[in-house]
Amino acid sequence: MQALISDLHSNTEALEAVLAEIKRLGVPRILCLGDVIGYGPEPRETLLRVMAVCESSLLGNHEHGCMQYASDFNPKARAAIDWTREQLNRRDRPRDENFRFWTYLDGMKKELREGKALFVHGSPRDPIKEYIVPKDAEDPVKMSECFAKFGDAQVCFVGHSHVPGVYPESGGYLAPSTLPEGWAIESERAIVNIGSVGQPRDGDPRASFVTFDGELVRFHRVAYDVAATQRKIRAVPQLPDYLAERLATGR
Ligand code: ZN
Repeated sequence: MQALISDLHSNTEALEAVLAEIKRLGVPRILCLGDVIGYGPEPRETLLRVMAVCESSLLGNHEHGCMQYASDFNPKARAAIDWTREQLNRRDRPRDENFRFWTYLDGMKKELREGKALFVHGSPRDPIKEYIVPKDAEDPVKMSECFAKFGDAQVCFVGHSHVPGVYPESGGYLAPSTLPEGWAIESERAIVNIGSVGQPRDGDPRASFVTFDGELVRFHRVAYDVAATQRKIRAVPQLPDYLAERLATGR
């Protein structure tokens, strides 16, 4: 059994709530699909925690943007990325810790294949940057190009859009609320979006993650102290207030 987490976005309150639930469920292995940092107030703390508890993390667009000039991000996201980069370079913190952060980011892979599963941050055809959202279920060209990248895989786990759910190859989008028994990967090939730990955007502010035993995918939601994260964001002048506000509504 493993737990899959994604899009933590420097939100330690959400991450700790999810880790506590993973522990309570007795799940020994955790994989991260990227966007550990960006948007949120505690990039160093979140990265340190991921480096300690996750077997590995894939490369998200925010890590990618942090390592390069984030020219293709909107102004709010870019402000947060520029501030995050400064935080990871802080001179008042141990130099070797800064070095470990950049080495870790630099070592993040774009995709992982294991058994019947493919793991990416964005989409199978554009692993770092492409979003998969419910309306894509009506775009057969996009979806068939994504399924064409499956290779031997039966399921592809993605994050990035912060909207959890299942996209079966035969079409449509299944919200987690319609899958109380989970998604059995043998039923048909599917893309599974695991949602976001630190900044959900499906209207439910609770942190999202999934567990996967090789056959069945289960969706989980965990409440966390949103107000505490909002206070930390508002205390950083470089982070737009909007990034705090959206956490309360899950949008
Ligand atoms: Zn993200």
